[in-house]
Amino acid sequence: MRRFFLILFSVILLFCSCSSDEPRVFTELRMDTVCSITVYTKEDESLVPGAFDIIADISSLIDMYDSSSEISYINENAASFPVAVSDELFSLISKAYSVTEYTDGAFNLAIGPLVSLWQIGTEDAHRPSEEEIRNTLPLLDWHNIVLDEEAMTVSFLQEGMKIDLGGVGKGYVADALAAYFRENGTKSAIINLGGNVYVIGSRTDGKPWTVGLQDPESSRGGYYTTLKCSDTSIVTSGGYERYFVDEDGTVYHHILDSRTGYPASSDLISTSIISPDSTLADMLSTACYVMGREKGEQTVRHYGVSAVFLTDENEEVRIGI
Ligand code: AMP
Ligand code: MG
Repeated sequence: MRRFFLILFSVILLFCSCSSDEPRVFTELRMDTVCSITVYTKEDESLVPGAFDIIADISSLIDMYDSSSEISYINENAASFPVAVSDELFSLISKAYSVTEYTDGAFNLAIGPLVSLWQIGTEDAHRPSEEEIRNTLPLLDWHNIVLDEEAMTVSFLQEGMKIDLGGVGKGYVADALAAYFRENGTKSAIINLGGNVYVIGSRTDGKPWTVGLQDPESSRGGYYTTLKCSDTSIVTSGGYERYFVDEDGTVYHHILDSRTGYPASSDLISTSIISPDSTLADMLSTACYVMGREKGEQTVRHYGVSAVFLTDENEEVRIGI
């Protein structure tokens, strides 16, 4: 399948130019996403190529569209035999499994077959038939993924299952990049992987960063609220990020509900999670978008993160801020 870049907006806008040092911004298209890294010193600039190498290394583990990735190897073989997995990928899959269980599949690591069916974000995106959806739903049951912690293997109890880490991968990469810059002494930097932002340290003048959350209804540049924050990740999910419109004008977006087989539809139109654990924030932003306000609030409190939700009535809900 050819991939098709449909990044219409950056979800989060950053206002970081109000300090005395000039930002140096480096942008590359990676993981189907416009990835930009902003640093402020010559020393930090020298770290940027290493950061893009980290993105490439992690993609080779988790990108289900890359047939040579480790996740593709699992997806091809785990129904035939228990597949031995690297420490790194096993621990990410375990974390994704645990959030899948807690959210009862609102975030579902086993959503791969449904994502492949719709192909949203590719030039082959289409609305599947009812029958195709009916046949796919049984393949999304995460209880049929067996993780053996001793042997560090993954098996599928059913043919045709697929793990999709698309709803957690950017957060995981953001955490790895934040750790890399911190270990190398960086005091101020911004990592922006599409909707996943990690602000490292504070602005060069010592003040917190100001982050704008994009208004789903406005064209590029509009935001519905701003946050002041330091040393944390801000991850947003919204149905306006990747979608296609069919002949009769119906919009189908990329966050799918594994109970119905269709794009998720709740009382939330944008969900942002704020946490220094970007891997977790990424999964929870997707889960809350699917679950809606009430269960989303409970989940945010359970995990001890903060959140900003925008409801379908344009109400801004702040939790833990
Ligand atoms: P995000 O943009 O982080 O909300 O994640 C969306 C991506 O995660 C999609 O492009 C799919 O690859 C995958 N995905 C879609 N729906 C779900 C879901 N309910 N649970 C987990 N991953 C999902
Ligand atoms: Mg996500």
